[in-house]
Amino acid sequence: MKFGGTSVGSVESILNVKRITEACDEPVVIVVSALGGVTDKLIHTSKLALEGNPRYIDAYNEMVNRHHQLIDAIIPDTDQQIQLLKVVDALLDDLKSIYQGVYLIHDLSEKTSNAIVSYGERISSNIVATLIKGAVWHNSLNFIKTEKKQQKNMLVADKTYELVRKEFKNFGKEEKVALVPGFISTDIATGEVTNLGRGGSDYTASIIAAALDANALEIWTDVDGFMTADPRVINSAYTIDKLSYVEAMELCNFGAKVVYPPTIYPVCIKNIPIYIKNTFHPEAAGTIIQEESGDSSRAIKGISSINDTSLITVSGLSMVGVIGVNQRIFTALAVEGISVFMVSQASSENSTSIGVRNEDAEKACEVLNNEFQKEIDMGAMYKMNLEKNLATVAVVGENMKHTPGIAGKLFGTLGRNGISVIACAQGASETNISFVVESRFLRKSLNVIHDSFFLSEYQVLNLFICGVAWEPWVAV
Ligand code: ADP
Ligand code: ASP
Ligand code: MG
Repeated sequence: MKFGGTSVGSVESILNVKRITEACDEPVVIVVSALGGVTDKLIHTSKLALEGNPRYIDAYNEMVNRHHQLIDAIIPDTDQQIQLLKVVDALLDDLKSIYQGVYLIHDLSEKTSNAIVSYGERISSNIVATLIKGAVWHNSLNFIKTEKKQQKNMLVADKTYELVRKEFKNFGKEEKVALVPGFISTDIATGEVTNLGRGGSDYTASIIAAALDANALEIWTDVDGFMTADPRVINSAYTIDKLSYVEAMELCNFGAKVVYPPTIYPVCIKNIPIYIKNTFHPEAAGTIIQEESGDSSRAIKGISSINDTSLITVSGLSMVGVIGVNQRIFTALAVEGISVFMVSQASSENSTSIGVRNEDAEKACEVLNNEFQKEIDMGAMYKMNLEKNLATVAVVGENMKHTPGIAGKLFGTLGRNGISVIACAQGASETNISFVVESRFLRKSLNVIHDSFFLSEYQVLNLFICGVAWEPWVAV
């Protein structure tokens, strides 16, 4: 069971975590995130210290007070509180020394930054371990191992699985409740503190579930389950009962923040179901993610999006029929560690458009201009064309495969609403149609598509009258 930041962010939510976990009949490994907002605050405070801004001390003190107030409210037993405060205050003191170092030396290396962000989970996990009856705390720094690959910390799966099994050898026998800090890890070669990336506590839980062959992985968060779209953008989004691993992966990879993308794979290959549940509403059924998609009446299961899109178009008449142009594009970008998340090429082969994150856009253009310098100089190819301020939307569902007319309905809806599609891609697996629009049309695109595919005529008409839906005829 993994409880995210909002689930351990307040007195009310953390007491819900206690109730939910203590009601469990089976042995359970509980993975927790830092208190909601603490990871951001740790990063913000390190930036203040780096700038030489003495206000970093106020920011640090706010974090100390927040943790102290929470402990005061939820651990009434004086002995337990004293014991816990010993551990928590020792961690907070270490953190203070690191910040002082950053402030004095004006240097914040990746190593220091990783050490700083680890304190959120190190502290929260000790608090929750004290709160939950019989919980045994395990230090994930000892068994979640990463290695540096293409400038990223990647999980070393084999070693980690071996260490997890060793660490939890008594689990399920005399030990029924284990408590683990999510997100944090150590480098396999140097032992330095690393992490699994923002949102990585989901991944910690998935790795442990897979290594121990768990019956289920439960992700407890602040919404009733995986929803048809981001509920912060689409008011009428609703919970999906069942998703396949493939559908969940497609949606998470494209911005459905509810599950951290790498989480799906470890449990998927072991066929362990994932449940998404609401800590604030535990009686709601939630979403189950498993092998089969379920509910064949709906072609589309969900919509997700990323706002941060740039499109680079590689074009030129000399590309037609020439073998190896795409290989050169992708190799050149891969060597520079630039990830491409969408590709669109027409069968005429005279242009290939690739979607990259905004932060990678300039660099990607430079790399490709260099790669094709000779062809550009000869006039056989054009310089890279870069379009920024775009957004990508993905429409996902395994049942699209058997349903004609989805693309027609999708692009018809966008066209009627005056939204121009700049690029689009659909793989032959037919589980995902992705398209790129100008950023300013993102919210409208999501709304009109959601109304069109997920709401009945009656619902759309009602929402239109209330001013929520975009067009009353879309469901017809
Ligand atoms: P946690 O702190 O529990 O890890 P996150 O903030 O990482 O929680 O993820 C939960 C949030 O994800 C929800 O509050 C919701 O706003 C957002 N979200 C985005 N897309 C979706 C979606 N398709 N379904 C559910 N939630 C989504
Ligand atoms: N605390 C980390 C973050 O905010 C990890 C997580 O919450 O999953 O990214
Ligand atoms: Mg999360």
